[in-house]
Amino acid sequence: MSKQLALQMLARRGVTLNQVAEIVYRLQLPYNDRLTIEECEDSVMAVLGKREVQFTLYTGIALDELAEKGLLPQPLQAIMERDESLYGVDETLALGIVHVYGMIGLTSFGYLDKEKTGIIRSLNNHSSQIHVFLDDLVAGLAAAASARIAHQNKNATDYGAFEENDEKNEAASP
Ligand code: MG
Repeated sequence: MSKQLALQMLARRGVTLNQVAEIVYRLQLPYNDRLTIEECEDSVMAVLGKREVQFTLYTGIALDELAEKGLLPQPLQAIMERDESLYGVDETLALGIVHVYGMIGLTSFGYLDKEKTGIIRSLNNHSSQIHVFLDDLVAGLAAAASARIAHQNKNATDYGAFEENDEKNEAASP
């Protein structure tokens, strides 16, 4: 159920499952022309099912919300208000999500950080809210969900009927 909580927190910050899935779709479509938005949504949900992903989201979103309320100690409060480009902790935190499905997500994460695809751009340009962490968390989420689809695709081509078993993987992860 914490998967649903993570989803609610994202919604509270103005990000829907569909918006994250749209980014995944754009990342993976060149490699898989039969891909559907529903598959992308499922993949985002699978990533949200990982406890380390949920913890990362809780942390980043809490910092954004505390900054909006002016409750962080200085100099962090001022850094968050300016969205200081040299801060970098937002990207570092989001890497914790990217790595859940291996290093393949790293390239996509770098690409999204540069291109600010879809909802990431709106978050980045928002004037009244503070989204220092959220834009990177969404990029991390989309990159991981995209990497997950890439792995499944590769497994299907390399090993015929072999399907990645998420439940088994989840049981094995700490
Ligand atoms: Mg950021």
